Amino acid sequence: MSHSFSRRALIGAFAAGGLLSAPAILRAQQLFTAYPFRLGVAAGDPATDGFVIWTRLCPDPQDSHGGMPMAPVDVDWEVASDAAFHAVVAKGTTIARPELHHSVHVEVAGLQPARPYWYRFRIGRERSMRGKAMTLPAAGTAADRLRFAVAGCQNYEDGWYTAYRHLANEDTAFVFHYGDYIYEGRSSPVPFGYDGLPRPFVRAHEGQLLYSLEDYRRRYTQIKLDPDLQAAHAAAAWFLTPDDHEVENNWVGLIDQGGDPQEIFALRRAAAFQAYYEHMPLRKSSFPTVGAMQINRRAIYGNLVDLHFLDTRQFRSDQPCDDGFKTICAGVSDPKAQVLGEAQEAWLDRNLKQKAARWNAIAQQVMVMPLDRRTGDEPAAIRNMDSWAAYDAPRERLLSRLKGYDNVVVLTGDEHQNFAGELRQKQGTGDAVAVEFVSTSISSGGDGADKRANTDRIIARNPFLKYTGDRRGYLLCDVTPETWTSQCRVVPMVTEKGAPISTAATFTVEHGRPALNIA
Ligand code: FE
Ligand code: CA
Repeated sequence: MSHSFSRRALIGAFAAGGLLSAPAILRAQQLFTAYPFRLGVAAGDPATDGFVIWTRLCPDPQDSHGGMPMAPVDVDWEVASDAAFHAVVAKGTTIARPELHHSVHVEVAGLQPARPYWYRFRIGRERSMRGKAMTLPAAGTAADRLRFAVAGCQNYEDGWYTAYRHLANEDTAFVFHYGDYIYEGRSSPVPFGYDGLPRPFVRAHEGQLLYSLEDYRRRYTQIKLDPDLQAAHAAAAWFLTPDDHEVENNWVGLIDQGGDPQEIFALRRAAAFQAYYEHMPLRKSSFPTVGAMQINRRAIYGNLVDLHFLDTRQFRSDQPCDDGFKTICAGVSDPKAQVLGEAQEAWLDRNLKQKAARWNAIAQQVMVMPLDRRTGDEPAAIRNMDSWAAYDAPRERLLSRLKGYDNVVVLTGDEHQNFAGELRQKQGTGDAVAVEFVSTSISSGGDGADKRANTDRIIARNPFLKYTGDRRGYLLCDVTPETWTSQCRVVPMVTEKGAPISTAATFTVEHGRPALNIA
């Protein structure tokens, strides 16, 4: 009801002579009968001279066009060096286009390195909330500390985003989001857990299983309304990579779960990529083209950390052994299998060889440790076929390339648990070449427990694995030239609001020694 009224009002403003020629007061009053910045703001892909700033005009989240007219609309933006916007250092006007669901992505440049900035959007009299983003220190310049967070896996139905509210207060330079920003499942008003038992109802998705561009857009709209998520975006710039659920569970390349024709799945993937781009603060270099997207990229934080963001989906060969948690089959040792694909592997190798910083952080999606998941007396190893554990050749090749740097930390998501361990060659029996931190989920999996059942048996079978934890939260990393410290920050519940944050475990890695120390 209200949306048809607001759309009429909007169209009236255009018919009356267009946006720019209308008197300012008239424009401001007629344009939006409801607040247009309801989805908040975001910044992303920080560099030494700037970052991307994002918003999407959406005065009516229930309307399939967000309550917007099917026309381009001007949006003003400004960036200041102070939180009160006394010193505006960059500003301009960009266009929110109907083709992109009235989202805007401004690549702000020309800023100073290694300092905070604040940004906001304006249209007529309407003003967005204020966001904060830090530029990176210039490559090679001295940086003696970095704090950032690792987060992802935020199934909206499984819990409140309380952890994001806490993350917003951590004073991070940036956030790495490893994916599963949305989940593609249909509305589940009668929830039950992995154990098959009913669990507390928190909130339900709208709509059916996602297939079309409109479906994916609707899901992002619903999730972007969450105030805790908005707070975390407003607090720092994010580096974002999608994982599987932005498209469909466990997809790789053009292969979906149901084995549908690849040209059919390509259309769904293209719709999903477009909606992802529309809702994330990504640069133009990640603009989806003919259904593909540039996801792997790099950022160098002064002389301290070289960050390599990987894409473990688009170029991966099909999961062996028919996917899932399975007993290992011959496909696991297929010498031709790929996880990153040849081009991305060569790119990573070139990056590493430049030795651009004291530490290398490999920020990616699925677990590298070849974990044997047996919890009983099964005769052969069970592995997660949707992880590096099921791709022996690419994994061992990666580890052999990491060997000798003694400064590599791998940051991972996907598991909905915290795992910390060492990456050892030869199926986990050889030399440690790096450390891996698998961050838990923001909400996926629900409240969880301090430890999942049978964890002790998994640790006993996998000596390279040093820690597991099953609470929701995020990973907080503090890096200095000598020491990398990671904390598992967790909340005791996500099915009730307002849970406090605490540190479940703290780990350190000493530069020059690829070993995990539990503090
Ligand atoms: Fe997930
Ligand atoms: Ca995943």
